[in-house]
Amino acid sequence: MQLSGKTAVITGSNSGIGLGVAEELARAGANVVLNSFTDRPEDHALAADLAARFGVTARYIAADMSNGDACRSLVAQAGACDILVNNAGVQHVAPVDEFPVDKWNQIIAINLNSAFHTSAVALPLMRAKGWGRIINIASAHGLTASPFKSAYIAAKHGVVGLSKTVALETAGQGITCNAICPGYVLTPLVEAQIPDQMKVHNMDRDTVIRDVMLLRQPSRQFATTAQIGGTVAYLCSHYADQVTGTTISVDGGWTAL
Ligand code: NAD
Repeated sequence: MQLSGKTAVITGSNSGIGLGVAEELARAGANVVLNSFTDRPEDHALAADLAARFGVTARYIAADMSNGDACRSLVAQAGACDILVNNAGVQHVAPVDEFPVDKWNQIIAINLNSAFHTSAVALPLMRAKGWGRIINIASAHGLTASPFKSAYIAAKHGVVGLSKTVALETAGQGITCNAICPGYVLTPLVEAQIPDQMKVHNMDRDTVIRDVMLLRQPSRQFATTAQIGGTVAYLCSHYADQVTGTTISVDGGWTAL
């Protein structure tokens, strides 16, 4: 199997894109470490399910990605980290002049600072093996902006910049670092945005999905979590050995507009 013997740590992977990424990496033979901030039996059951379906080692480690020490401890507890996928993310929608300070700080901590902390601990482990992959799940909002999402967009632009910097610091060392920029993928994070968007635009659910959320996604189709997971698996393959310091959009044409 392509990734047999590799260990992948995926932050924020008890639902949505993170879980889809974990599934595709396990399918390719990687051992996986799942994470979120909760510590429920159903979180651990997700890891057991992947282990049973794909014959890999799978663990769930609870750690709050808004806390820098917890981010560092997650990678340390994983023991090995050949592939690091920084995926944990949250969203809040409000105009800048009304944006709650605690929400701003939380979004920057989880969506941006966590990738710095996990990468800082993972890089020495990767350098020791002469191989590594850091894949940051940014967003089309890491390349473009929309109103009312200032913290999220600032964090995602920051993640793109961090990815480029880490790529330069690891060039020629067998390690690559890239950012994937999805357009809209139907997950709990997107579901949670729909009521806010309905309120802001005074529209019903179907209209806000078609005319607001997918307005900038020319395909007018959501991407799937498996498609994001497959893009991560490609970046982990030898075909992508020279792909570093860049962004890969999976956005139905959004950023081509
Ligand atoms: P989701 O809500 O399903 O997943 C977010 C994950 O992050 C969950 O597993 C959640 O438990 C975890 N998380 C939240 N706070 C955390 C914390 N403090 N510590 C640890 N884990 C925490 O949403 P998703 O859509 O799957 O989003 C995953 C990533 O993809 C995010 O970074 C998001 O910004 C990005 N993204 C999503 C879309 C989309 O359309 N869904 C588009 C572009 C980018």
